[in-house]
Amino acid sequence: MKQSSWMPPLPPAREYKKENLIEMLSTSQFLYQVGESPLLRMPTKTIPQEAITRDETKQKIAYLKDCLKKFREITSGKGRGIAAPQVGIPERFAVIYMPERDDPMLTIINPIITKKAEEQVTFPEACMSCNSLIVQVARPAWIIFSYFDEEGKKQFWETNDDTDTGRMYNRIFQHEIDHLDGIINIDYAQGKDLVFESQAAQYEQATFQQIKR
Ligand SMILES: [Zn+2]
Repeated sequence: MKQSSWMPPLPPAREYKKENLIEMLSTSQFLYQVGESPLLRMPTKTIPQEAITRDETKQKIAYLKDCLKKFREITSGKGRGIAAPQVGIPERFAVIYMPERDDPMLTIINPIITKKAEEQVTFPEACMSCNSLIVQVARPAWIIFSYFDEEGKKQFWETNDDTDTGRMYNRIFQHEIDHLDGIINIDYAQGKDLVFESQAAQYEQATFQQIKR
């Protein structure tokens, strides 16, 4: 660009965006962005219960876990959850990173939400498949859902954990279950709520906001 004596203020986040684009180039080896795959917009197939422990399913779960691990390595620890259609698998399962657990990678298979809180909270959400948009999304403060674990046993997610950690997991689960139904967080965007990520602090300093009725 030609330098003159007059210049408008320049975007403050050029370096951050550069870093973000370099990361995106690496994660695009395995991760689809919205518009790149019709699978991101389709409901996924339920896995028959007897097929959960089959070798083929195990390999798919291992692949998805590996993708989340790689994403977290490339982005220095971003990425809390990943759903199968994001890496080209049209099946109903997702993996959530939960460092508080002995096994930090929790697989949820065939999740079904059975109850949602009436209380709604908003939080700025990023999605690996909409890099690097951030959208304020209002969601129920908590949900209850059933799912199958990797051994094919039925489990329930039900927590009254009202701390930020509890709220965050309730949100991550809703985000991932949405992916399994072909819904992406940008679908909830209300025009001006949609912004590009321009600095790490934008997300790190975010807080939950209760919606007043
Ligand atoms: Zn997502």
